[in-house]
Amino acid sequence: MCAGDAMTTQVVFSDEFNKHDTADHPENADRVYVMLDALEQAPFYHDLEIIAPEMIPEQQLYELHSADMIQRIKDISAQGDSWIDLDTYVCAKDYETARLAAGGVALACRNVMSGNADNAFALVRPPGHHASRDRSMGFCLFNNAGLAAHEQTKHGKRVLIFDHDVHHGNGTQSMFYDRNDIMYQSLHLSPHYPGTGTISEVGVGKGAGYNLNTPLAFGHDDRAVTQLLDEVFIPVASQFKPQLILVSVGYDAHHADPLGGLHLTANFFGELIKKLQTVQPKIVCTLEGGYNLQWIGKCFVSQMGQLAGHPVHFQDAVKGNDDVSTLITALKKELGAYWKL
Ligand SMILES: [Zn+2]
Repeated sequence: MCAGDAMTTQVVFSDEFNKHDTADHPENADRVYVMLDALEQAPFYHDLEIIAPEMIPEQQLYELHSADMIQRIKDISAQGDSWIDLDTYVCAKDYETARLAAGGVALACRNVMSGNADNAFALVRPPGHHASRDRSMGFCLFNNAGLAAHEQTKHGKRVLIFDHDVHHGNGTQSMFYDRNDIMYQSLHLSPHYPGTGTISEVGVGKGAGYNLNTPLAFGHDDRAVTQLLDEVFIPVASQFKPQLILVSVGYDAHHADPLGGLHLTANFFGELIKKLQTVQPKIVCTLEGGYNLQWIGKCFVSQMGQLAGHPVHFQDAVKGNDDVSTLITALKKELGAYWKL
């Protein structure tokens, strides 16, 4: 293999993200430091390109978020530290920090689409997938993945947003529910926060069939999700033919996560990327949840290894539930009207 064939995997990160921090909140600045520490130990660390994010232009926020919601974050963050709801804090300067997070994901997408990078991981905070057009919630201010995907569609690209956070990405789903240029696929625990994400939520109008939800039960494991990927997610994604895959990454789907309930292992997060690469190798991951500081570093290195072409393996096993036959039947029934399954 000549030097020109080497993979370029970018990591988008800035210490600025850690201005968004509140003691005792599970979504805190320590998360990314634990992940970066683990990455620095990885054998492929020096092959990675670490790049700085840039703020998303203000006018791009208005393309997906309401003026009231944007103004609210702007006002609160100008006043200093406060809360937008019971779960979601806003720090001084967060209007800038949240725009830096969204801009970091958008930059990663542009770099991958232009060929400057083969794939990328936007290690950004605050997260985004619960933020809808009108509302910041669930630790999320602006919808980072949504804003980045929407930018690509303006260049005529079809984007798959694959969300494996243990919580349903209600914000992302609602933003693109009537669109067929952005497909949203989610696997999440149910019943669980925020309460949305049933199989029958398939999209509306020309977006019908472009929204795929799999509500998993407590304890569903690697084998369960592998079956779902092989029989439903991947076949639908292949027929959609995305030009870019954006992964809303949630390591709260790991079996040891304090806010979770699924039984996925660290290695599985890498396996998941491997499956998605068969659909489209242009992949950008963006950080959403994941709160067990003992494990999220390993989950992250597992995904980064797969992106960088150096798969790694950790000792991690757990007993779980692999029965998804009822789910597969229901998904095929609901989505069979739109896709060959
Ligand atoms: Zn989550």
